[in-house]
Amino acid sequence: MIADGDRIAVAFSGGKDSTALLLILREIIPAWNNIRLVAITVDEGISGYREETIKIADRLTKDLGIEHRIVSFSRMVGKDLDGILREGPERACSICGILRRKALSSAARDAGATLVATGHNLDDEAQAVLMNVLRGDLPRLVRSSGSPSGGCFLPRIKPLMEIPEKEIAVYLMVKGFFPDLPECPYTRYALRAEVRTILSAWEIRHQGAMLKILRGREKLEKALKSVPFQGKIQQCKECGEPCSGTLCQTCLLLRKING
Ligand code: SF4
Ligand code: ZN
Repeated sequence: MIADGDRIAVAFSGGKDSTALLLILREIIPAWNNIRLVAITVDEGISGYREETIKIADRLTKDLGIEHRIVSFSRMVGKDLDGILREGPERACSICGILRRKALSSAARDAGATLVATGHNLDDEAQAVLMNVLRGDLPRLVRSSGSPSGGCFLPRIKPLMEIPEKEIAVYLMVKGFFPDLPECPYTRYALRAEVRTILSAWEIRHQGAMLKILRGREKLEKALKSVPFQGKIQQCKECGEPCSGTLCQTCLLLRKING
């Protein structure tokens, strides 16, 4: 996943998975030549939640001696997430996801990164597969295991994607981290929360189910590689970001937000 000379932008929320990822990368990096890390935290502007995790993220990066950059929705689009959602919080996670992706990729590019690493674990990935099935979103279903390649996309890697969430928690405990983190107030609107409950129960009764879901996605991705339903990647007419239509999801969203 990583080559000599890479500058890795680690998406670092201060939560469990990204903390584990940062610790692991920090530990293995000295064995590599010329690999540099930069941690990027996205401040969505969620009151009562994000302030605390930003403090945790800042403290840890200082302790580890890793460069830390913070990028905020309010600076990027002129409003924070709480402000955008004032009319209705039901679409919180999809709006948050679109803007976070944009914030992360521009901050990574500004930092001169060659790669973006995220802390998605096995549970996250299996949940994403099931969510895309439930939404009937075939293009995203087969695109979500890796990064889009070529063009102006920064490649994305998910080094923990085969590690169960529980093992990551154990790793952090062994390392002496017992993070007591607040929960995002919008979690209750997330489809993911329901899917997580279903899959966790399923995994207890059928061990290995999550990994099988992941393997299934890989097979599907391979089988559908040459099917042209995913559309051609082009540049957004407004911001130049890579997208599949004439406008990227962020610019479409911004038009709606700003009326
Ligand atoms: Fe954003 Fe939803 Fe996660 Fe909250 S739960 S940080 S709104 S994606
Ligand atoms: Zn755009």
